Amino acid sequence: MSFDDLDERVAEVRERIAAAIARGGHAQQVTIVAVTKSHGPDAVQAAWRVGIGDVGENRIQEALAKMASVDVPVAWHMVGRLQRNKVKAVDRFALVHSIDSPPLADAVHEVGLARQRPVDALLQINVSGETSKGGFASGDVAAEAERLAGRFGIRLVGVMTLAPFGAGERELRRVFAGARAARELLAAAGHPALGLSMGMSGDYEVAVEEGATMVRLGTVLFGPRET
Ligand SMILES: *Cc1c(COP(=O)(O)O)cnc(C)c1O
Repeated sequence: MSFDDLDERVAEVRERIAAAIARGGHAQQVTIVAVTKSHGPDAVQAAWRVGIGDVGENRIQEALAKMASVDVPVAWHMVGRLQRNKVKAVDRFALVHSIDSPPLADAVHEVGLARQRPVDALLQINVSGETSKGGFASGDVAAEAERLAGRFGIRLVGVMTLAPFGAGERELRRVFAGARAARELLAAAGHPALGLSMGMSGDYEVAVEEGATMVRLGTVLFGPRET
């Protein structure tokens, strides 16, 4: 696939984000994380050419292969479920969005200790309670924030959430506001939690209205996935 019209797509998305910031009133900065999963390294190169410096992948193997075949200095984001046996790979990412359990948080912390530099990460929150999705229940966030406070190896810089597929606007707002509340709990426990990763191709405008600082966009930028 060619990405000839990517610049126009990005321009339109940026306009929609600006309008959503104005409607929402949170006055935040929003970073587009271009999710290139299923697309080749050419998608990463194309994103970089149109001014996108943040790229998301949801599988470690695919991400590492792509990193090895691009020569543009994008920041890589791990947005998918991370298996504990692949946790060492977090060293290659600028941000891990998907800390979804205490054992994973502990494993990531160990990586940070071993390299003597904290791993920046987001706590994944499962606001809707869907059993198919990973992440912390809203009621468990405060305890986990306390448990991880003061750990050198992991720096919790915010939260991430996924809205239920096909949710209506009211449910979307409830989920995104729940993630925002979880971020406040992290901040109250002393974490530098400014980030709010929420919103995908189908719901990013509502997410930005609700305060998202990072939107994870695949389809709206690159078209349908290739695998
Ligand atoms: C694939 C993926 C996205 C992007 O989804 P689109 O609907 O194509 O924008 C965002 N976040 C995560 C965690 C993903 O796996």
